[in-house]
Amino acid sequence: MMSTDEILTLVNHISITWAGVAVVIFIVLLRVTAPYGRHTKPGWGLLISNAAGWAVMELPSLIVYAGFWIYFSGWQHPVSFLLGVAWMGHYTWRSLIFPLLIRKKERKIPLSIVLMALVFNLMNAGLNGIWSGLYFQPEMQPEVNDFLLIAGALLFICGVAINQYHDRILLRLRKSGGYAVPYGGLFRFVSCPNFLGEIIEWGGFALMACSWPALSFFAWTIANLVPRALAHHRWYNSHFTDYPTDRKALIPAVL
Ligand code: NDP
Repeated sequence: MMSTDEILTLVNHISITWAGVAVVIFIVLLRVTAPYGRHTKPGWGLLISNAAGWAVMELPSLIVYAGFWIYFSGWQHPVSFLLGVAWMGHYTWRSLIFPLLIRKKERKIPLSIVLMALVFNLMNAGLNGIWSGLYFQPEMQPEVNDFLLIAGALLFICGVAINQYHDRILLRLRKSGGYAVPYGGLFRFVSCPNFLGEIIEWGGFALMACSWPALSFFAWTIANLVPRALAHHRWYNSHFTDYPTDRKALIPAVL
């Protein structure tokens, strides 16, 4: 039977390797845009309801993280408790509430994309759940950097606010019909402020946790969302002749 330290070392090694896979996927996604939402196209197999797809993709992140976190008793430590609240708060929203808000009738998502995202979510939730469950076990003496914890928590909250605010603008637009040019908030500067918020959010989480699993998840978030923001930006420019020319894709004045 492996000791807690051995399991944590294994989790760290898997996370570093997994972050390496994210680099490969980043390069792939710069060439092949994930075919869901506005980028949906034929040839990716069976299509299922968008809302069901999002719930199936995201719910395991909530369950798997909570399972390990509770099973290994790490949640009793205040830092692990905070990490768990952040993770599970995000995934309760993303898996149970967001699917109810997105357009349901005609919008479909390929099952193949749902399954790929499921693997991605199971890995990230598994690694982060095991780590925050074990590293903070009552008999452990975890090192915590208070400055990074507070800075990370503030960044996480800012990221959530930016992501939610701009997702809501988009969802309101979607409800009123087809696609339109979004305005308001950081849309003044970039095409995808909701993705920027999500990246800031998981950057904040990585600072709070100061762990390889959290850093690896941050790398995956960048790998998914930077190429998608570039693809959305190209799409807006090719579909709207009056699209604001001073808007960048993701980072104001930079990218
Ligand atoms: P999008 O910005 O593509 O879409 C969000 C919602 O708004 C969708 O319902 C979409 O409709 C609608 N929408 C978007 N743009 C417009 C527009 N111009 N006019 C009208 N409606 C619009 O985000 P995603 O669907 O890719 O992602 C959803 C959330 O999940 C985001 O918050 C993102 O940050 C997060 N995410 C996180 C990832 C991670 O790795 N951590 C990976 C992927 C997403 P439709 O679906 O029909 O296009």
